[in-house]
Amino acid sequence: MTRRKKIIAGNWKMNFNIQEASIFLHNLEKEVAVHRDVEVVLAPTMLALQPLSLQVNRRQFKLAAQNFHFQDYGAFTGEVSATQLRGLVEYGIVGHSERRHIFRETDKMIRSKVQAAIRNRIRPILCIGETAQQKSEGETADVIHDQLVGGLANVTSDELKDIVIAYEPVWAIGTGNNALPSDVKHAIKAIRSQIRHLYGAAAAEEIQVLYGGSVKPDSATAYLQVEGVDGLLVGGASLSVHDFAAIAAKAHGLSEDE
Ligand code: PEP
Repeated sequence: MTRRKKIIAGNWKMNFNIQEASIFLHNLEKEVAVHRDVEVVLAPTMLALQPLSLQVNRRQFKLAAQNFHFQDYGAFTGEVSATQLRGLVEYGIVGHSERRHIFRETDKMIRSKVQAAIRNRIRPILCIGETAQQKSEGETADVIHDQLVGGLANVTSDELKDIVIAYEPVWAIGTGNNALPSDVKHAIKAIRSQIRHLYGAAAAEEIQVLYGGSVKPDSATAYLQVEGVDGLLVGGASLSVHDFAAIAAKAHGLSEDE
């Protein structure tokens, strides 16, 4: 039995303007119940974080940044730092596959972002996962190893307690290609085993690990029941009040069942 809390996080990506985000949150507030065993996290567009931080009931929802720069201040035109986000958000997504692949973020940048989040009291949600080609070549465990070692390189055992890992196979993100729960089980096992190797057995048992990739209300429970999965990172389905609330509801009560 584990005492790890479930996390259901919605990544709204580049959707909703400020007003739409506010209305969406208002509607979500009516549908998502507060449960002590589930943390519901919303990652809206950067623009909406400040207004939503004033609107949100922080007992019901936590806010997350989808991205941020790894320096705290400076000449980085167009960027927003973790220092500027401090106090607005509880979480920050780091290393999402869209950042890695579209914006060419490297493990070095990702590791610096993890550090920036930690020093600004933001919990990093470190996303890792293999591409379709890497999967077909049997490289999933190697990718998990490299991205974990790369992203966590400067993280101490004490800091690890604030980190959440999200296993997101790239081929399953936004594609409707569902990963098999058995694939997710193997990947999560590889993640915990790598954490055990780096930080010891207690850390491997404590760290929260999420799954993400085309999760919908009807597939959520199967993933949440995979051994070692502590929640879900949801993209497309988080843009529907009905679907996201349904997914969040499915996480309640599972922590005690494991
Ligand atoms: C994501 O963007 O992290 C994600 C999992 O997206 P989707 O649920 O749409 O696959």
